[in-house]
This record gives sequence, C-alpha cells and structure tokens, in this order.
Amino acid sequence: MQTTELFAQLKEAYLIVREEDLSYVYINDAACKLLRINRDEFPASSLWKNHLRSALQSCDITLETPFFHQDQHYTLSISTLASDTETLLAININLAVPSEDTLHNFFNIVDHLGAYVYCKDKNFNYTYANQRVCELFERSIDEIIGSNDLVFFGPETGKALQAIDQPVIEQGETVETEELNYVPHLQQHRHYLAVKKPLYDKFGNRSGLFGISTDITEQKAIQQQLHDSERKLSTILDNVGAYIFIKNRERRFTYINRMTEALFQRKSDEIVGMNNFDLLGPEQGEEFDRTDRQVFENEEQLTCIETFITPEETFYYWTVKIPMRNDQGEIDSYIGISTDITEQKRLENQVRKSNAQLQQTIAEINHLKDELQQQATHDALTGLYNRRFLEEHANISFTDHTRGPTSILMIDVDHFKKVNDLLGHKIGDEILKLLSNVMTDECRNTDLVCRYGGEEFLILLPNTTIDISFQKAEWIRKRYEQAVSKHFPKAKGNSISIGVAASPDHGNQFEAVYQAADKALYLAKQQGRNKSVIATRSKT
Ligand code: GH3
Ligand code: MG
Ligand code: MG
Repeated sequence: MQTTELFAQLKEAYLIVREEDLSYVYINDAACKLLRINRDEFPASSLWKNHLRSALQSCDITLETPFFHQDQHYTLSISTLASDTETLLAININLAVPSEDTLHNFFNIVDHLGAYVYCKDKNFNYTYANQRVCELFERSIDEIIGSNDLVFFGPETGKALQAIDQPVIEQGETVETEELNYVPHLQQHRHYLAVKKPLYDKFGNRSGLFGISTDITEQKAIQQQLHDSERKLSTILDNVGAYIFIKNRERRFTYINRMTEALFQRKSDEIVGMNNFDLLGPEQGEEFDRTDRQVFENEEQLTCIETFITPEETFYYWTVKIPMRNDQGEIDSYIGISTDITEQKRLENQVRKSNAQLQQTIAEINHLKDELQQQATHDALTGLYNRRFLEEHANISFTDHTRGPTSILMIDVDHFKKVNDLLGHKIGDEILKLLSNVMTDECRNTDLVCRYGGEEFLILLPNTTIDISFQKAEWIRKRYEQAVSKHFPKAKGNSISIGVAASPDHGNQFEAVYQAADKALYLAKQQGRNKSVIATRSKT
C-alpha cells in the first residue's frame, strides 16, 4: 500500500487509524520506538484504542491533543487522509514539551519535595539535581551537572551507586532499592530508599535515568530500635519460665513463646492461627475457651486455674489473662501467662492428706490419753473413782475449812462371799455395779464416790454435817436393799453396812476421819450388819 510505504520512511512518528472506528491500520517504526511498543502486539492493544478515543473526543481535532502513555506525556497532531474507499486519520506523535510556567512550577515542586531528585546521563554524570541534592553535596547546580557520584560520595560509595544505576541505564530496568551511602561532608552513613527509572529522548532512545531518593535513616534507626526491643522482648518471653501466648477476639493464637511450643510439641507457625478447638479438641478446648470468652466479655483481667488432662496425668496451670487494647482503645486481644502448678498441687494434696492423717492420729492420741486418764483414776468395773484418785484429792476438801464439815461413808457389802458362791462371780460383779448406780444416784456432783477395794466403797461428802450424812447413809442402805431384791431376786435380803464419820468431830484430816468411819463400819458388822453406825468421837 502506497500510504504505509510513505509513512514507513518518515523519521517522524506516525500512527494510521480508520476515522470511522479508530481501528488500527498502520504504525511506523519511529512511532513504535517513541511509544516503546512492539508493532506485532499493537493491534491487540484495545486499551490504547480507548485512550486514543477519549483523547480525541475531549479535544479539538485540529489542535495538538495531549496524550499520556507509559509514564510519558505526548502530543498528538491529527490530519485526514482521504482515499477512494475510506477516510484515514494520520496521527503524528511527539513528546510533549511543557510550557515555561509548567516547567517553573514543576521545578519548584521538585525542589521542595523533601526527597532527592536527579537525572543522570549514560555515563552516570548528573544532568539534573534538585535543591535538596545541592544541599546534600554542598555544591551549586553547575558544579553538580556533568559530574558523578565518585566525586560526591568518594570511590567506594560512588562505585556501588553506579553498579545500581547500570541496569537502569543499560537495560532500561526500573530499580527500587535501599542504599547505604557514606556522605563525606556529613561524615556519616545515611540510608536512602531510591527509585530509579530509565530516561528516553524524543526519539525513544534510552538516554540515562532519573531517580528519587528519600532519606530513611531515622526510620531505619526506629526500625532497628523496634527490632532490637522485639528481640529483647522475645528473649525474655522465651526464657521467663512461663507459658506465654496471645490470642485475638476469635480466640485464635497470634503468638506463643518457646515454652508453649515445647508444651504442645508444635512450632509457633503451626499453632498461630489455630483456635482452642483446633489445637485441643472439643472437650479440652472448651476448658480453655470458657475463660478466653470471659476476658473479652468482661473486658478485664482474669486469673484462673486451668486443667489439662492426659490419659497419664492431670496438669494444673495458674493462668493470668490480660486484655490488650489497640490504638482505637478496643480490646482486640489478650496476653496469657500460665505457670505449671501441677507439682505444687500434688504437694498440696499430699500435705492435705498428711494433715488429715495427722488430725486422725491426734484424735486417737487424745482418745488414748483420755482412756489412760480414766484408767488411772477410775475403776474399770463400776466407773467410779478409784482409791488412788481419792487419796490424791481427798485432803483438798479437808484443808478448805471455809466449806464446812466433810463426811466420809465407808460402805461394805454384807456376806458378799456368799453371794458370789451362790450366784457366781459375774452376777456378783453386776450387783457391785448396781450398788455403784444407787450411790451415784443418791449423791451430789460435788460428792466423791469411790470404789475403795473389792466390795468396799467410800463416799466423801464435802460441806455435809454428820447428821445429814448419816441420813444419806441410811437412805442408800435402804435403796440398795430394794434394788437388789428387784433386780436380783436370788440375792434378795443382801445388804450393806455403813460406817459414818465427819470432820471436825472425828479429826481434821482425811486419814483420821477415814479411820473413824472404818471403825464405825466394823461396829456395824459387829452389831449384826445391814445398818449405818456413826463413829464414836475420839476422846482427845
Ligand atoms: P462381811 O463383809 O459381811 O464380813 O462378809 P464378806 O463375805 O463380804 O466378807 P469378806 O471381806 O471376807 O469377803 C469379801 C468378798 O468379796 C471376797 C471376794 O470374793 C468378794 N469380792 C471382792 N471383790 C469382788 C469383785 O470385784 N467381784 C466379785 N464378784 N466379788 C468380789
Ligand atoms: Mg469386805
Ligand atoms: Mg463384806
């Protein structure tokens, strides 16, 4: 086709499209180069067609139309080519040349961008530098242009920078990189985040690069501090001797320390993201989930004992769950600190068991002590005080004269030998018990009833005159006679004899009064038994 041959030879960039629907007819080499596109792929680029349509629609077709493609501003000039069959549009593409105002504003913005902006040619020499770069190098723009990084940064940093620039200039790559540059006049290293892209001339030939570098030294320092404190924190958390974990509102783990990893025998990245049920199954999961829910519902710190049951053993954990707020003040997670108290629990149980055993032993000892005391002071058959007890305590009553006279009754069962012979020793015992009951019933709490030996009894009656005690003796004697007849008819008629004596009539000491009562008892026997006899008064 004649038209395409003509445009193919032109050095100017041309695209030919049909006027009717802007469908592709031809693009010449110069246009492909300028637009940095591949001719074979071009017809398929419907996106480009849409861009073209909106550019043509918004502008007067006779004027230059701005067009933006692949980071580059272009102008399109359109002329009509009429043929026999259809009308074609010849679109002349040029790099856009900014106006002076635009350029002025642009450089102003770039100077105050807070970043280092620069262009370099194919030999790594600066072709442009904004004010920030001039300040950094402490040079004027004239001193910078035509010179390179070897001069400004010194050979080491300069070469390193050229190595980064090389693929941008030579292969047209876009490079985004962090640079650590030694800045001689500051005498320090600074960190930069640099973005470098290739530059093209108006014919589409690579002519160098442009770059924007931001000083991120301070951010890096903060990042490093953060990293350091994270490292310190994780060292602490990993070595603190407790299970430490963080869970979010969904009760999923977001962090576990090394001890927790060891407990579950799984790595942190396996467990992070899991919830209680994923990790522990339905039953055990619920045990932990219940208190997790409480933390988020009540929004306050919680302390609990958690149990972890395995077929071999039950483990106990003392756990504190502390809610954590995000920047908006909402509780979005909690940190849990658990200590294994299984051993303490075991010891506690052991102590509790030993305590119970000890208490039981103490109770047994006390019981034994009481029994021993009882045995030492009481008679086993009748439960009355024994002679030993009586002799130890009797004198108290006699020495305290404020209490008035003290009486003694000496009681002996009549013909008891015969009772035994007749009814047997066992019944004899029962009869002695019966007599004990009669005496106890008839005596006051303050009286001391004692089995003095065999079938002989002694009653000590504090604060009792001889007449009253004689009446009591008589009363006991009669009641005994009745009780024996009633309960042991075969022993009917069995009786007791009683000797009665009292202080001060018969002496002021137990021994004297006792002797007097015993003598009186002897008299009662002599006088035919079954009677009470008051001791004769001593002559002195
Ligand atoms: P009397 O006092 O009237 O002179 O005659 P008696 O038969 O009671 O006199 P004696 O003192 O000689 O006998 C006391 C008897 O009491 C002898 C003994 O077998 C009996 N006796 C002593 N202690 C017990 C006892 O604990 N149980 C029984 N069943 N008999 C006892
Ligand atoms: Mg006797
Ligand atoms: Mg007797």
